[in-house]
Amino acid sequence: MRTKSVLFLLIFSLTSSLLWAKPSRQYRKFKLKNGLKVVLVSDARLRISSASMSVKIGSLADPPQRMGLAHFLEHMLFLATKKYPRLNSYGEFLKARGGYSNAYTATDHTNYHFQVNHEGLPEALDRFAQFFISPLLDYKYAKREVAAVHSEHQKNIPNDTWRLMQLQRSLLKKGHPATKFHTGCNRTLAGTKEEELRAFFQAYYTAPNMALCVMSSRSLEELEHLVRRIFSPLPSRPPKPFHVSADLLDPVEGYRFIRVLPVKRIRQLHLYFPVQLPADDYLTKTSRLFGMTIGDEGKGSLLSLLKRLGLASSLSAGASRDSRFYGGLRITVGLTQKGLKEYNTVLRLCLAYLEMLKNSPFPLHIWKEMKTLAEISHRYSPPPEGTEAAIGIANFANEYGLKYVEKWDHLFLRPDPRSYRHILQQLQIERALIFLVAKTFPDLPRDKKERWKEEPWYGTQYADEVVKGKDYLALKHLPKVPQLHLPLPNPFLPRRFDLIVERPILILQQKGIRLWYAPDYEFKRPKLALALQMISPTAYASARDFALLRLYVALLLDSLNEYAYPAQMAGLSYRLQANRKGVFLQLSGYSDSVVRFFTMLVKFLKKKEFHPQDFARIKERLVQLLENAPYQQAYLVSRESARKFFYKTYYLPEEILQALRSCERKDVQDFANRFFQKLHIQAIGVGNITAPHLKSLIVSCFNSLKATPLSAKELPVFSRTVLPEGKDLIYRQNLLTNNSCLRIDYQVGKADLKTQVAAELFARAIRSPFYTQMRTRQMLGYIVWSGTYFAKPFQYQVFLIQSGTHSADDLFQRADAFLAALPKLFAKMPPKMFEAIRRGYREDLRKPFHSVAEKAFWWYNVAFERGEDFELIQKKLQILQNITQDEVASLLSKTLAPKTRRRIVFLHNAKQFATKGIDGKQEMEKLCQERRFSP
Ligand SMILES: [Zn+2]
Repeated sequence: MRTKSVLFLLIFSLTSSLLWAKPSRQYRKFKLKNGLKVVLVSDARLRISSASMSVKIGSLADPPQRMGLAHFLEHMLFLATKKYPRLNSYGEFLKARGGYSNAYTATDHTNYHFQVNHEGLPEALDRFAQFFISPLLDYKYAKREVAAVHSEHQKNIPNDTWRLMQLQRSLLKKGHPATKFHTGCNRTLAGTKEEELRAFFQAYYTAPNMALCVMSSRSLEELEHLVRRIFSPLPSRPPKPFHVSADLLDPVEGYRFIRVLPVKRIRQLHLYFPVQLPADDYLTKTSRLFGMTIGDEGKGSLLSLLKRLGLASSLSAGASRDSRFYGGLRITVGLTQKGLKEYNTVLRLCLAYLEMLKNSPFPLHIWKEMKTLAEISHRYSPPPEGTEAAIGIANFANEYGLKYVEKWDHLFLRPDPRSYRHILQQLQIERALIFLVAKTFPDLPRDKKERWKEEPWYGTQYADEVVKGKDYLALKHLPKVPQLHLPLPNPFLPRRFDLIVERPILILQQKGIRLWYAPDYEFKRPKLALALQMISPTAYASARDFALLRLYVALLLDSLNEYAYPAQMAGLSYRLQANRKGVFLQLSGYSDSVVRFFTMLVKFLKKKEFHPQDFARIKERLVQLLENAPYQQAYLVSRESARKFFYKTYYLPEEILQALRSCERKDVQDFANRFFQKLHIQAIGVGNITAPHLKSLIVSCFNSLKATPLSAKELPVFSRTVLPEGKDLIYRQNLLTNNSCLRIDYQVGKADLKTQVAAELFARAIRSPFYTQMRTRQMLGYIVWSGTYFAKPFQYQVFLIQSGTHSADDLFQRADAFLAALPKLFAKMPPKMFEAIRRGYREDLRKPFHSVAEKAFWWYNVAFERGEDFELIQKKLQILQNITQDEVASLLSKTLAPKTRRRIVFLHNAKQFATKGIDGKQEMEKLCQERRFSP
């Protein structure tokens, strides 16, 4: 078993990745005037406030005649203070506010901590601070607390872990502080005088020797204010210097072997090597590599081999800092019966593994895996909180200062092969303690009393010796064990952290209906958005049919108005439109209202009788609208020309108008009947509705229209022109208004995603220079625009200038000169500028949706116009990240270069610049002969 289980981290980080995206934790760190180090953590997600005070002294500092004093003081400190003298009032205060407090004494530090609800934090902090400012250390309770410490020790006595730990200590170099009994008991503490306790407190409990961490949902300002007020009175004496030697064990000629009798029925071989860890181990985590290698359980591991040989059932290993002065590397093998008998083989294999490490390169891949796992665990795990987190931060700050404290739990600054080698060099059998733990030892029976000893504090029975001779020499010259090698790279290390893209699902696909659905987990509102297209080949079968469709939809809207008005007042918004495919409906609002409105609308759709008066009024309005088409803005007229050219079938306003004039009321009725004869519905519903409910809504709509479903073959297709390469097409038309318009369309290419991204990038780069040149410098006109657009299957780049002062021909000349220079201009653009454009585009792609409706209509577009590629944005972002300026530049020059360009220029001249002998209609007919089509 490794000291920290990789598997656990892995599973944890994967399952939680969906829950915790970005930490929004704020830190503030500073030193008070008295020298107290302070780390404040503010995080709105914290469910509880917590604090921890770390004091840089522990049981290593116990006077030899007063073992357990540091621990005893820890107990006494928590009783009462001058300001809050009532015994236990601190504990009661916390308990009443969902909290608790605790403390522990380690070898080199002591930590006090509590947690409490956010509301209780200020008073809890004040009570907590008093323990360090004015503790009563009331001696009338001393007896009671000695008894408490004693019973704590009594509890530990039958525990084999504690027993072995103390035995290991007692076998270290005589007189070293590490050999002492750290917990304390009746025997060591009974006669403690109040002065001893106070002297220890005075010597070490001083602000420069301490660090405080406070974590809360309260703001940093508030926390700083609190801490400054409450902790400034902490005494600031210089702490008594304290140091112990790292030299724990004298080498022997041979190795020290200790047989130990446990309380429980356990069989263990335990290897202990005192080691000096590098001072900056907290930055490099070199020591952790030993747990990851020796404690590995995969292919080539020590445990794997021991298990195969039937010698061991478990193994744990790791190097750790036992105090700031020294560390230790430990290997504990759980032995089988056979392993106990053949413990020498087990020992040899353990040492062979260490030999293998010494002869192998620095395991950089393992270090990198640890770093990755720590980073993703930090990123995707629930943010640490409560006393556990506060303790970690306070101890870190006290030990290593404030610089890296935000990263206290995931700091992997750099790998350190030198320190790794240095630790390995210290692993020598002559400087180790080897323990064999078992109930019986056939080679050393209990009745050989002279060989058995008793550890004084726990009463552990043991027999120690120094093994020399051939058993020792056999360990000095170990043959290489080919089965043992470094852990292999972890194949389960996660590499991808992108979340599954939220997308709708297809819930109905049958002849006549294609329906997508997505519930809303983002906005969490009782709202629903619906987009629905009714497709009929009748809609655009002729100009007259389209005129009738527009009449029909306008009449529907008109008769709906009395109902639509209150619906809109109730927060509902809707759009009903005639388009070339048929009728398009968008509906959004509170789901309940949307469902009711939709049901009513479906009833309306079947209405094919309209009042003659209504018909006349609506027809007149539509005629008027179309009659005005030639008088609208010049750029809108040129847009109509572009559409006429690009689509195989397109009806200009004048063509629809001509057909419309002869339409009668009865024709609308006939048309509606034909329209609903054969139908296909494509729709999406997003939001607060269940899939079955949505399905039944759409199916019943279809059924009530009594239409025959259209087959896939019958669905109308709107083919677009493919422009010939290297050929300029020019279209001319004289306008009735006094504005000219130049419109240039470039077909950039088949619109795969990379072309789309590249086109968007150069369009963004061009936009501003084109505008500056044409509008600001040359002052050609008010409307100057350039941009790119997608129309299946092509990407286009368009330039547009509308002018009241220049002819379209003149505009073209000027624009063309500018466009010719563009590729060079782009290629020379400073990379910094290109990066800024890339960033801007990325921001736009990442923009979140504002509403359920916005999301639904985007998804409608993706489902029905963009090949159902719901990962479109993610893919574009990926391409955007990798595309180079050169790639974009080359697409731009290919788009614009005379040899390769596919271009059509629309010249719409104002009446004052009219070209003589030009008839737009004939021109368009001529032009259309050049076309080829793509579906
Ligand atoms: Zn205790």
